[in-house]
Amino acid sequence: MPDTGLALRVHDTLTGRKVRIDPGVERGRKLLRLYVCGVTPYDSGHMGHAFTFCTYDVMVRFVEAGGVRVRYVQNVTDVDDPLFERARRDGVDWRELAEHELAIHLRDMGALGWRVPDFMPRVSGEIATILRAASKLHAQGYAYKTDGLYFDASRYRGYGKLSHRTRRSMIRKLREENLLGTVGPGAKQDALDFPLWRSSKPEEPAWPSKFGEGRPGWHIECSAMAMRYLGEQIDIHGGGRDLAFSHHESERAQSECLTGKIPFART
Ligand SMILES: [Zn+2]
Repeated sequence: MPDTGLALRVHDTLTGRKVRIDPGVERGRKLLRLYVCGVTPYDSGHMGHAFTFCTYDVMVRFVEAGGVRVRYVQNVTDVDDPLFERARRDGVDWRELAEHELAIHLRDMGALGWRVPDFMPRVSGEIATILRAASKLHAQGYAYKTDGLYFDASRYRGYGKLSHRTRRSMIRKLREENLLGTVGPGAKQDALDFPLWRSSKPEEPAWPSKFGEGRPGWHIECSAMAMRYLGEQIDIHGGGRDLAFSHHESERAQSECLTGKIPFART
């Protein structure tokens, strides 16, 4: 299909402006690299999920209608606290719960007629990729090990800029979302630091690593999977607005520290 020159403009969270998307070129053809944070399959989807994914669906179709290819990655967070908590509450295996809820998600989105993402990697299938990213951050001095492996947020200048939050407002949101964790000796050194690798509770999955048996923290999965499927720099990183802090803020910090390439996401 010929490039019709249709211009896509989207709201950019970092600058607060509407920006024109100019996709990069791969093998002589324009290619938009898009990563959208997907579901944690522990419960049925709601209208907010549908709104998010339909929004990006419209974007993908618009760009493709203009003759530009899109490589669309949407992850599945099948290793995470809400999933394990629900599995424990209902007395079911976390894998079964994830399979069941993911099938419902795919059925619902299919009913809405979405353009299926090109890749839907699952955390449980990407542990080696995630561990490589965490190890590199540790080797580069951006992460430290105590009861888990933590990213040192103070090493990234501008932590908070993406979500336009002060330190106080970031800490407040972490507390509200029950993500603050323990600060102090043997745990994380500062409230804004976040786990790249953590120990697992009984009945939770655990993988061997040089940081101890455990599982990945939440944010590192998306940096690692985005880079694996799209490369070290991407055109658009999307997701629900509530993810700007702490998820996308943390992804931005660790990704740019990992590769030294700025920006990780152009929009
Ligand atoms: Zn994500």
